Amino acid sequence: MSKLQYQLSYWEYDSFLKNIDVAIIGSGIVGLNAAIHLKEQAPKLKVAVFERGPLPIGASTRNAGFACFGSMTELLDDINERGEDAVWQLVEKRWKGLQKLRQRLGDQAIQYKDWGAYELFQDHESDIYEACLEKMDDFNQQLRPIIGHPTVFKEESNAIPTFGFSNIHSLIKNQAEGQIHTGEMMKSLLQFAQSVGVMIFTGIQIEKLHYEPTIELVTAQSWKIHPKQLIIATNGFTHQFFPQLDISPARNQVLITSPIPHLKIKACYHYDRGYYYFRNIHHRILIGGGRNLAPAEETTSEFGATQLIYNALIELLQNVVIPNIPFEIEQQWSGILGVGKNKSPIIEEIHPNVVVAARLGGMGVAIGSLAGEEAASLIIG
Ligand SMILES: Cc1cc2nc3c(=O)[nH]c(=O)nc-3n(C[C@H](O)[C@H](O)[C@H](O)COP(=O)(O)OP(=O)(O)OC[C@H]3O[C@@H](n4cnc5c(N)ncnc54)[C@H](O)[C@@H]3O)c2cc1C
Repeated sequence: MSKLQYQLSYWEYDSFLKNIDVAIIGSGIVGLNAAIHLKEQAPKLKVAVFERGPLPIGASTRNAGFACFGSMTELLDDINERGEDAVWQLVEKRWKGLQKLRQRLGDQAIQYKDWGAYELFQDHESDIYEACLEKMDDFNQQLRPIIGHPTVFKEESNAIPTFGFSNIHSLIKNQAEGQIHTGEMMKSLLQFAQSVGVMIFTGIQIEKLHYEPTIELVTAQSWKIHPKQLIIATNGFTHQFFPQLDISPARNQVLITSPIPHLKIKACYHYDRGYYYFRNIHHRILIGGGRNLAPAEETTSEFGATQLIYNALIELLQNVVIPNIPFEIEQQWSGILGVGKNKSPIIEEIHPNVVVAARLGGMGVAIGSLAGEEAASLIIG
């Protein structure tokens, strides 16, 4: 397809693209939160967000909508890798980020449901399940001052028949997690950003960046934009600008069923140490994950689907989630995460007046609001 190439009119340049104080590349949850925070702190700033898609097309409009801050196996794995302090600090950020998102947009707008989350354990996972039970009191104690809930984690294997699962040995419930409607959240966030005066330009792909002597963005239409400051919030696509950063794209495939009569599941669920996840939405099941089946193939910023992962997700539905219940797959899509060896986001000034805010991993719903604000604070500071 040929690119739409044309010269800007005097009017277009003068009113929209001239004298931009802060440009933001990427209108995902991070870019929009950065823009909102800038306008809240300094309403006179001219803040413009540039998004290559007609809608944001990365992870923010394509995720599973888990308002999550850590399942027990995830926390155990993270503590082994990074130590307790780093993990509880990140959990606190995730929790605060979720509260910020809910306060800013409202639970009704984002369709927040406090139905909790469950971690499922298979028969062969009794070791890790026992390790979780052993740590449960300790984790609850650590989480009490952060979350304000007396017992976040709770053994709840007696709920297995309630949900109708097969081939599941035990369940641990996280009582403080919830779920949102991802599309409604992003729609509200876009509207909120516009209401505080953020300009959002869609269909504008930034192809080149120059920093010297001044910042210059070159778009796919060959327009040149010269903002005073810049935030790059392109998450899994950041390697196009900064290949040296430890941020890799990671594709995540998702399926959604058609409505299932008398659906029993009603929460968010983590399976196989978080490699798979599923939830209810509008009497359907949304299910995703399986990236670990083909790590090399899924390390890509190209959208798409593979038979291998499709089959694994179908098998999980048939053998565990809704055994003996007929279903059809109504839609299939993928989204691109930004991941690295370190699980924390990168939020740093990479050149004078140029800030990167990326590598949100699988927790951007929770931490995205704060990541955006931190990036904006670096710009203002
Ligand atoms: C399938 C899936 C399920 C997930 N489930 C959850 C979940 O349940 N809970 C949770 O907390 N997190 C989840 N995540 C992660 C979460 O969605 C992300 O961490 C978060 O959305 C990242 O937001 P972002 O703004 O950093 O990036 P993105 O939303 O990816 O935004 C980056 C934007 O930059 C734009 N862009 C890229 N390059 C350019 C360019 N050159 N010019 C202009 N624009 C550009 C892209 O089009 C994109 O819109 C999931 C992710 C996926 C993919």
